[in-house]
Amino acid sequence: ELCKAILDEQPITRPAYEAFAEAANRLDRCLETLVKELWDLLRYTDPLTGIATRYAMLPRLREEHQRVGRTGLTSSICMADLDRFKSINDGWGHHAGDVVLEAVSAYFVRNLRRYDQVCRYGGEEFVLMLPNTTPEQAVPIVDRLRRGLAALEIPVGDKALQVTASFGIAPLTADQPIAVSIERADRAMYRAKRAGRNRVEAWPADQDEEESAEAAPETPP
Ligand code: GH3
Ligand code: MG
Ligand code: MG
Repeated sequence: ELCKAILDEQPITRPAYEAFAEAANRLDRCLETLVKELWDLLRYTDPLTGIATRYAMLPRLREEHQRVGRTGLTSSICMADLDRFKSINDGWGHHAGDVVLEAVSAYFVRNLRRYDQVCRYGGEEFVLMLPNTTPEQAVPIVDRLRRGLAALEIPVGDKALQVTASFGIAPLTADQPIAVSIERADRAMYRAKRAGRNRVEAWPADQDEEESAEAAPETPP
């Protein structure tokens, strides 16, 4: 209406001006929201693999943690770390390492169950969240994932690379902060590394040295 008035060289009426100012305000708010959403998208999407980042996973973990507290159900989290990944970079080049990370991410996304979530937690580390799944139930599920990954042929140039991962599972318990569950999953994962890699371990482990060290600190002789 404002444009029409200007083109027709008519005087601008107050209601037309106010409608214009209102529309400009709405556009401004829309752009603000869009910018915020773009920043969130950048922060929440890993640029290399396109999967969720740790920042995207944290609110989901928090939500699941609260749900576990409300319902009394058990959920599990799993830490996965690629085995001898440095040797892939060293042997085939950093680009090959990147291609493998992309393929592994896509493999996890493809092979998780409907409600499960995965994020790239760090360099070659992934965190999986398995709602309504006890660690006992999670072990065979994750082990299937582990076997499938080990069998995956990843094309890099005219070669096909293979990679394995070590997995550690821990319950997401209402009576412990999320960070504790992540640390337990991490410890179980390191136990899988020490036991020879390409394995799944679950917390707690009675035979775990670190675990017992935590429970009963070593007394000096
Ligand atoms: P381990 O079985 O004990 O986990 O051995 P590892 O070699 O996987 O462990 P380490 O932590 O020594 O090495 C991890 C490597 O992952 C080192 C780092 O260069 C590589 N890495 C991390 N992020 C990226 C990435 O985005 N791209 C590539 N190509 N490599 C990455
Ligand atoms: Mg690592
Ligand atoms: Mg590793």
